[in-house]
Amino acid sequence: MNILITGAAGFLGSHLCDKLLSEGHTIIGMDNFITGSPDNLAHLSGTQNFTFIRHDVANFIFVPGKIDAVLHFASPASPNPASPFGFPNLPIQTMKAGALGTHNTLGVARAHDSRYILASTSEIYGNPLEHPQKESYWGNVDPIGLRSVYDEAKRFAEALTMAYHRYHGLNTGIVRIFNTYGPRMRLDDGRAVPNFLQQALQNKPLTVYGKGNQTRSFCYVNDLIDGIIKLLFSEEHLPVNLGNPHEISILNLAKLINKITENEMGVKFLDNMSIGKDPDRRQPDIHRANEIIQWEPKTTLDEGLLKTIPYFQTKMGFL
Ligand code: NAD
Ligand code: UDP
Repeated sequence: MNILITGAAGFLGSHLCDKLLSEGHTIIGMDNFITGSPDNLAHLSGTQNFTFIRHDVANFIFVPGKIDAVLHFASPASPNPASPFGFPNLPIQTMKAGALGTHNTLGVARAHDSRYILASTSEIYGNPLEHPQKESYWGNVDPIGLRSVYDEAKRFAEALTMAYHRYHGLNTGIVRIFNTYGPRMRLDDGRAVPNFLQQALQNKPLTVYGKGNQTRSFCYVNDLIDGIIKLLFSEEHLPVNLGNPHEISILNLAKLINKITENEMGVKFLDNMSIGKDPDRRQPDIHRANEIIQWEPKTTLDEGLLKTIPYFQTKMGFL
């Protein structure tokens, strides 16, 4: 298949490129590097089946040749206001990637009659009142809160994707991705795993926001990529949660990372730096993924962190 991947120079997009190329597909990667990096694709230069187009998906997209599938992954994704790469500092760009970028990529898919996959997010559930979150839950989102530029752009993107499916009969799919980590995460995007790993590897205390009893459920990147590819090759049109249901408090995540890295500096509690309402709990219900695409994650948090640490050590100049 000829596959267009937007956000190809990002964390998830670059792993999707690698995996789909290894399965024999031809990939056109598209990115404007607003939060991603050419480093994530450097190893693909000279690869016969890979081409790259530097382009902002908020603008009209033209790609030469036949496209069999479009995966729309372009969007800033970190909620951290302290990072220039977090969506609080890129509010308009975030809304444009989710709204205009989704419209333009749906247009490409319609022109080519392609399968289309939208990268949505657990953030569309907001600060959830239902736990764990099933796809049937409508969410609890503040439409004008500081996180809304991301949450509402993704909710709009889901609505537009379903409109193209219902009105134009486009073969669309929606993946609601829960917190994912692994090699090629941006070290400075302010998310919990990169912050904690860097602090631990420098023998510093880990910055836990608030009391650290908010929870998340962290999925290792390879597991997630396998699920996305299964969804791509399925016929499913309704949203599917993908994530690891193993729920952990942020304080316990910090303790686990300190244990694995043998960091004895403990944690430092900070006022919650998160903008808007930092969701209290988040855990995917993955029964639909299990039924529809026979998917479940295989990597435990300990294993996934051990696989991620060498990437951080290399980027930090320790290896
Ligand atoms: P990332 O920042 O590493 O990758 C996003 C990529 O999109 C970057 O390379 C960036 O430069 C590019 N991009 C952003 N706006 C663009 C635009 N207008 N035009 C072209 N390229 C643009 O983030 P990620 O973690 O890889 O996230 C990828 C997708 O998955 C996003 O849509 C995000 O919302 C979604 N997602 C990720 C997670 C996660 O835990 N990583 C969770 C839920 C959803
Ligand atoms: N967090 C933290 N310390 C950090 C970075 C993040 O305690 O240095 C917390 C953050 O407040 C949130 C959780 O970790 O409760 C996950 O944050 P992340 O930015 O990774 O993703 P989110 O799930 O909020 O999108």
